[in-house]
Amino acid sequence: MIKPRKAMDKVSPYQIYNESRKEKIRLDLNENSLGCSPRVLDTLKNLSAIDVSIYPEYGPLLNRLAEFYNIDVSNLTISNGADDSIRCIFDCFVEEGDEILLPVPNYGMFDIFSRIRNANVTEVLYHDDFSFPTREVISKISDRTKLIIIVNPANPLSTAIDEKDLLEILRRAENSIIVLDETYHHFLRSSCIDLIHSHENLVIVQTFSKAFGLTGLRLGLLLSNPKNIEQLNKVNLPFAVNSIAVKAAEAALEDTGFIESVVRHVETEKSFLISELQKLGLAVFSGYTNYIMIKIGEKNNQIYEALQRQNILVRNLDKYPMLQGYLRMTIGTREDNQKLLAALRELLPIQGVLFDMDGVLVDVSRSYRFAIQKTVASFTGQEVDPSEIEHLKNKGGYNNDWILTKTLLQTRGIDVPLETIINKFQEFYLGNNFDGFIQNETWLLNKDTVDELSRRYKLGVVTGRPRQEAQFALNQSGLEKYFEVLIAMEDTEPDRGKPFPDGLLLAKEKLGVNRAVYLGDTLDDMKAATAAGVIPIGVLNEDQDKQTRTELLKQYGAQHVLPSVNSILEVLK
Ligand SMILES: *Cc1c(COP(=O)(O)O)cnc(C)c1O
Repeated sequence: MIKPRKAMDKVSPYQIYNESRKEKIRLDLNENSLGCSPRVLDTLKNLSAIDVSIYPEYGPLLNRLAEFYNIDVSNLTISNGADDSIRCIFDCFVEEGDEILLPVPNYGMFDIFSRIRNANVTEVLYHDDFSFPTREVISKISDRTKLIIIVNPANPLSTAIDEKDLLEILRRAENSIIVLDETYHHFLRSSCIDLIHSHENLVIVQTFSKAFGLTGLRLGLLLSNPKNIEQLNKVNLPFAVNSIAVKAAEAALEDTGFIESVVRHVETEKSFLISELQKLGLAVFSGYTNYIMIKIGEKNNQIYEALQRQNILVRNLDKYPMLQGYLRMTIGTREDNQKLLAALRELLPIQGVLFDMDGVLVDVSRSYRFAIQKTVASFTGQEVDPSEIEHLKNKGGYNNDWILTKTLLQTRGIDVPLETIINKFQEFYLGNNFDGFIQNETWLLNKDTVDELSRRYKLGVVTGRPRQEAQFALNQSGLEKYFEVLIAMEDTEPDRGKPFPDGLLLAKEKLGVNRAVYLGDTLDDMKAATAAGVIPIGVLNEDQDKQTRTELLKQYGAQHVLPSVNSILEVLK
């Protein structure tokens, strides 16, 4: 074989997927999930022989673009996609051995073109919060720095650079070309195109591939001052862009309403997808683009492949710096997003099982409920019907039985300080040395069930009970060794008990689990679980109307409703 240039030894081609993607859910390449403007398709239907049989003509499109961007025709040129625009910059400006400052992780073609030209790449890591490493880039600028790459908003990170940081870099790197890749600027709703007039070292790259949805036609742009454009045109092919792309772009520019609807669609679907992914207990990273990242962790490659087997294509970022365990996914249509979510729900392993205590692990119908009744009676001389207590519990907001007792007294026209209520209540409930109603409590979770659960999951208790009372119940059960974590009333701020997610979040953190279920019997339990990204599972109590209760728990997010805590293994499978 005839040896190619030496530089080729270090070049590996950009990986493209050769199977058909048409029938699949394509969340891998940040294409436009809404397709393209219908005006583009109309134009393509009316093509004639002359449109394909002569060399393309660029005059009208270039004029239209200049008008669209409010610049002179000499400020721009067109290329065969943004990739080709980037190639032009490298071919035009980069000598062997020149230095290129490349923030990483980044879009793959910058590295490939650098290798082809045998340039020296200095990688600069983005910050931990994925913000642009302005200070670090500036500190690396030298006489040899030829290009500084800035993708804004970033790929795959989605973050945007502050304009003042960009200006600072433009000012500090007067002898370098700043390549500003604005492929996704529509989703940021802003472009730095005006800066080409004030900064002669700025070259902007844009494309019709993403927000415009003309990916298959291959049309990119280069925007800069006339001198740079003149040089760039020397390396541009004379007919780099085909006639059909030219026609399509002209039509696309007439339909700015389409771009607006695309951007709005992405914004709406992105917030839907983010909130649903968070419910799965996933960390989500999003910004100003039509894609987001999620952190799966250890099982990343496995999940990526499983999604692929289900014809759901996403981008595996596992090999990127800083992004081990991450996937990137384009914001799809609602239908695509639902399918992705359904697949992830099935695939993500549940690692933790968390339990509410009262009504789930412990039958409190003859303890706390008795204590409420007795306390109210001691101040009013009247019995409270259990259904009234049930009613308040069902309303939500009464996770704390002392507060509930106070409310019952207030509705009877009696205002007693909470202190006094608590003392009375505890007298009935705890008695002397735990000989009060607490003695009536029965433990509900079978030893066999908890034993089996503990072999597969990490177990924890998250309760609004004071620690001492929760600990007492656990000790009585003789099963306390199975529960690695006990989060009690004292572990959250006084006003941050359920339905706030704090206790559950703390339990997840302490157990070191991402994905968990929470078994609870109240609506506040379901709310807290949803807010904590934990899967809510409802548990029914003996004396409840099962059908109404089931519907209510489901309304508040319960994924399953169990007749008893011991049915848990059936739904975890
Ligand atoms: C998609 C993408 C490109 C390539 O766009 P084409 O116009 O399709 O070549 C360039 N840069 C970034 C950052 C991209 O994400």
